[in-house]
Amino acid sequence: MDFSLSPRAQSYLNRLSAFMQDHVLPAEPKYEAQLQNVPDWRRWKQPSVMENLKAQARDAGLWNLFLSDPEYGAGLTNLEYAPLAEVTGRSAIAPEVFNCNAPDTGNMEVLVQYGSAGQKERWLKPLLAGEIRSAFCMTEPDVASSDATNMRATAHIDGDQVVLNGRKWWSSGVGHPHCRLLIFMGLTDCSAGKYQRHSMVLVPLDTPGVRVERMVPVFGSYHEPFGHGEVTFTNVRVPLDHIVGGPGRGFEIAQGRLGPGRIHHCMRTLGAAERSLELLCRRSLHRVAFGKPLAELGGNVDIIANARIGLEQARLLTMKAAWMLDEVGTRGARSEISQIKVAVPNIALEIIDQAIQMHGAAGVSGDVPLAGLFSSIRTLRIADGPDEVHRALIAKLELRKYQPKTVASA
Ligand SMILES: Cc1cc2nc3c(=O)[nH]c(=O)nc-3n(C[C@H](O)[C@H](O)[C@H](O)COP(=O)(O)OP(=O)(O)OC[C@H]3O[C@@H](n4cnc5c(N)ncnc54)[C@H](O)[C@@H]3O)c2cc1C
Repeated sequence: MDFSLSPRAQSYLNRLSAFMQDHVLPAEPKYEAQLQNVPDWRRWKQPSVMENLKAQARDAGLWNLFLSDPEYGAGLTNLEYAPLAEVTGRSAIAPEVFNCNAPDTGNMEVLVQYGSAGQKERWLKPLLAGEIRSAFCMTEPDVASSDATNMRATAHIDGDQVVLNGRKWWSSGVGHPHCRLLIFMGLTDCSAGKYQRHSMVLVPLDTPGVRVERMVPVFGSYHEPFGHGEVTFTNVRVPLDHIVGGPGRGFEIAQGRLGPGRIHHCMRTLGAAERSLELLCRRSLHRVAFGKPLAELGGNVDIIANARIGLEQARLLTMKAAWMLDEVGTRGARSEISQIKVAVPNIALEIIDQAIQMHGAAGVSGDVPLAGLFSSIRTLRIADGPDEVHRALIAKLELRKYQPKTVASA
């Protein structure tokens, strides 16, 4: 494994890091101030500073960096993208600045990989341009959605239309004033194999029968202006050509979508952990208690050292998973992807928690970004599959190596 960066990727990294320092990090307070925290999601507005930053990033060529297909994006490998995503993870507002934010990244990947020419023209183009946003509607409130085969929402074919019914929630991004597209997953054919029953359907947000019922808070915060919505679909009719890749391919597409998506979250989480450790160290050097800087009190040096050790382990594992994804694809890298999906948020949460502790009461205030980082990264132990489900897959693949082979499989 060679984790050194190509000159092109290094140039992106240098330019991205400079852009973050010069433009994104200084804009965070302005972005917060422009949010207004309006409780009614229908009145949420995109802070104007975000549109300015997007325009600047696009002009600087720092745009759609996540897309490995050079026809649509920067054409970097997952390994090359990893350090760039890490840099953007230092700020909650950064991914959108570079059009590299979830869930639009995953949705764009779906359209790049499986979309028809017509679907690409109508939806991929404006998503790539950052003109619209989208949401992904898979999870349902009434069933345990960590087992996606539980899904009850339906996508029935009726002549030249597909009819959607069901209730989804945690549809991230649906509250954004620019959201125009939903990717809905539902049951099409109960008689087909377990993983061939579902279809993925493109649904314009303003289609009759689609209703955003409410926004669901995360630890009391609505994550405006994008939010996480509960959405009902009541006899929603769209033309048959709105199905992505054809009926029954929902699971196949969802698996492909989550490979890079999960790994991007982990890369960004490393950036959040790195920023937290930096804040922890700075605070521990400058704050004095009992006549000494905090860094010299109790077991604080061990805390700092352990944070660095954990962070380096998490980064190396993430780089390995990215390398595997490049070399053998999502299926071959299943264990590594699940390993980082568990390891990285847990290590990052430990570091952020320690950074909060080192800041005392300031750590849980909004004056430093730690509380926000903690709450958003805590959700990653659940979103895109809870830790337990990933551990179950890792163990299954591990045990498989030692199980006696049947005559047929041998
Ligand atoms: C901030 C956030 C954003 C999200 N964004 C989206 C989105 O954009 N689109 C979307 O469709 N969904 C989204 N989700 C939903 C997320 O993917 C689901 O919450 C997740 O898949 C778990 O499903 P569930 O909540 O129904 O938990 P359940 O399936 O009810 O599981 C509950 C708990 O059961 C335990 N458990 C489950 N399986 C096992 C097992 N095999 N072994 C041991 N224990 C187990 C785990 O502790 C688990 O946390 C988001 C969630 C959050 C929090």
